[in-house]
Amino acid sequence: MDIEERQVAGLMVKIDRLICVGFETCVEVAPDLFQMDEEGIAIFTSDTNEVDKETVLEACKECPVDALVVLDASGNQLHP
Ligand code: SF4
Repeated sequence: MDIEERQVAGLMVKIDRLICVGFETCVEVAPDLFQMDEEGIAIFTSDTNEVDKETVLEACKECPVDALVVLDASGNQLHP
């Protein structure tokens, strides 16, 4: 799958796995939310229930290629 989606802390987070180039910045900022798969591309961790909103936004903003998209509960795009 090219786009992974997950509801986290009341937000919808999407990983565009075609854009991700594996810098791992998101994993460094939010290891409870993102991990790298065996191909070196970001995926969600198995349990993201403890992740808070600020961490989601911070991690997604740090992605240098904007592979991480965040929408609020109403579907408004918060990032990028
Ligand atoms: S920061 Fe962006 S490019 Fe780097 S691993 Fe995460 S999603 Fe991929």
